[in-house]
Amino acid sequence: MGVRILSIGDELLDGSCVDTNAAWLASSLADRGLSVDSINTVPDIVERIASSLVESASQSSLVIATGGLGPTPDDLSREGLAHAIGEKLVVDDAALSWSRSRLEGRGFQFTSPQAGMARRPGSASWFPNDMGTAPPLHAKIGECDVWLLPGPPAEMKSCFEAHVLPGLPSNEPGERSWVERIRCHGLLEAEIVERLGELLDRDNPVQVGTRMSRGIFIATVHAASREQGEPVAASIEERLRPHVLGRGDVTMSSSVGGLLLEQGVTLATAESCTGGMVGACIVDTQGSSRWYHGGVVCYTNELKQSLLNVPSSLFEPGAPGAVSAEVASAMAQGARSATGADIGLSITGIAGPDGGTQQKPVGTVWISIARGEDVTSRCYRFPGDRQGIRRRALTHALQLLRLVLLGEVESASLPWESTG
Ligand code: AMP
Ligand code: MG
Repeated sequence: MGVRILSIGDELLDGSCVDTNAAWLASSLADRGLSVDSINTVPDIVERIASSLVESASQSSLVIATGGLGPTPDDLSREGLAHAIGEKLVVDDAALSWSRSRLEGRGFQFTSPQAGMARRPGSASWFPNDMGTAPPLHAKIGECDVWLLPGPPAEMKSCFEAHVLPGLPSNEPGERSWVERIRCHGLLEAEIVERLGELLDRDNPVQVGTRMSRGIFIATVHAASREQGEPVAASIEERLRPHVLGRGDVTMSSSVGGLLLEQGVTLATAESCTGGMVGACIVDTQGSSRWYHGGVVCYTNELKQSLLNVPSSLFEPGAPGAVSAEVASAMAQGARSATGADIGLSITGIAGPDGGTQQKPVGTVWISIARGEDVTSRCYRFPGDRQGIRRRALTHALQLLRLVLLGEVESASLPWESTG
């Protein structure tokens, strides 16, 4: 019997908050070889929470609910649980003093709404929350274990890992408990399906799930054991090379950072239409000061000239102009020489919705990478709106850098390449 997830909160039903908790929980459970039967969402209404808990508990041996444990009047999950098991809420003295010392330790006043978070149904138990002040609860509804976790994602994750995970059942023998993820960027889905071929057959003993998220393709391998799954994972990597970013929790940022570190080279960036997105992405990875010197956002032509030494002649009438191989290349070299980094990476493009011309429509983006005297420049015509174009420029720039570092830039290409 699979796990049931219950997401609680009005904000999930009016479109103001995306339910990332359920997705994260489902993926963490899948990593343990546990499947999720259903994900339900209910508003902050005591009776709805209670009936959903009862219904889920009658169908499963484990229910994990998130949200509605905070101090505000719309946080009613405790009441919902009490209603579901037909008990009254009682104040737990230990939870109360934990909550008080936690708040006062952070310099906050302990108020009565916060004291309300120390209540639990008589038979339930509370647990500390290392990332916040709302204690998670555990209770039994019949034979079913029910967890109420806080809604804020960081708190939910920390409570799940600290209190729920250690008690999860281990897999039954024969289930697909070995899981590996492989991430890849820069191949269209149709091409990936063709390359992976028979590995995607639905009746294989090793199952490969696929999904695309913001341009990153994720293949998830489910097998009964490492011995069974590893050859399939290795074969996927082989078939998608050199576009593969890596395994597990790898990101574009950590993949590029790992390569720069491995090769002992440093990077600087010069960004126009991405306005610093590349720099922000690179420093997402801890330790990035070892491979990233920094970057400039040079949006105007004047700044491209004064900060990066891009020749003014390139902007004159009849000259290549701001979105061109010449300017991208001069920006990349300028970033390198201004900072002393080994590699300069630049982006200049038209994110729209205005500014496009017949020769250079919206979506035209030049990316250059200067390494020593060698400069690689590519032009892409990205589809999408302003944000989509800028996001694609970011991931393409980092993947192009990977391909340069791997010595594969002449043999491998990325989608939407154009002659300029
Ligand atoms: P709550 O504990 O219900 O007061 O939730 C506090 C905040 O946590 C909400 O305002 C959301 O920002 C966030 N949150 C609650 N539930 C979820 C969810 N299922 N997925 C992502 N964020 C959530
Ligand atoms: Mg809420």
